[in-house]
Amino acid sequence: MSKLFLVPTPIGNLKDITFRAVEILGSVDLILAEDTRQTKKLLNHYNIITPLQSHHMFNEHKSVESICSKIIAGQTIALVSDAGTPGISDPGFLLVRTCVEKEIPVETLPGPTALIPALVNSGLPSDRFCFEGFLPPKKGRNKRITGLIDETRTMVFYESPYRLIKTLDELAIHFGPDRNACVSRELSKIFEENIRGSLSFLSEYYTNKPPKGEIVIIVAGKKEK
Ligand code: SAM
Repeated sequence: MSKLFLVPTPIGNLKDITFRAVEILGSVDLILAEDTRQTKKLLNHYNIITPLQSHHMFNEHKSVESICSKIIAGQTIALVSDAGTPGISDPGFLLVRTCVEKEIPVETLPGPTALIPALVNSGLPSDRFCFEGFLPPKKGRNKRITGLIDETRTMVFYESPYRLIKTLDELAIHFGPDRNACVSRELSKIFEENIRGSLSFLSEYYTNKPPKGEIVIIVAGKKEK
């Protein structure tokens, strides 16, 4: 039996990919990609000609069984997302769980993801942290935030530029305006920016300078007594 590889891809800078990731993408029988056009750009850059198949949140429920059958039949398959590590706020979990259930070997390569550089760069404690991904835009949003009021670990959120100020303001209401945080924008890209300060300062900063691009918010945990 062959195996499934999960291969992290760059989050901005095309050079942020491991030698092994390039080697595996070039040697597998098939690459499953969230957006084949996006992945094609990466493959062209590294002269990789492996066939691509679309695999995203709208078709993954239908295709997991046939993907597993292909691996059982002897194919080696790699899963990539548009950027970063598959399965981290991206498709991957369902396929991995199904492979695990069927005892199909799965191997995830270490590599790019936005949460780790944002956390480490924030200067907030990184010995213990919790990854919250995207907060729900509406239903369940308040419950998720209030559930974190007593969280003492550093918290990591993914956010879109359109909701950044709303989220900073809501976090300030529940955690207090003076809670320390850091907004990391456009990591590894030309206009990378890391702004550190209290939640109220960050809200004011981005009200005066509306943000663009991709964003990670790091928030200090509640001080332990
Ligand atoms: N799988 C990816 C990972 O491993 O980080 C995450 C994919 S998720 C759909 C996209 C979100 O990740 C963005 O909205 C942003 O919150 C964060 N992100 C991705 N690339 C980023 C970057 N270069 N700078 C800051 N945040 C980034």
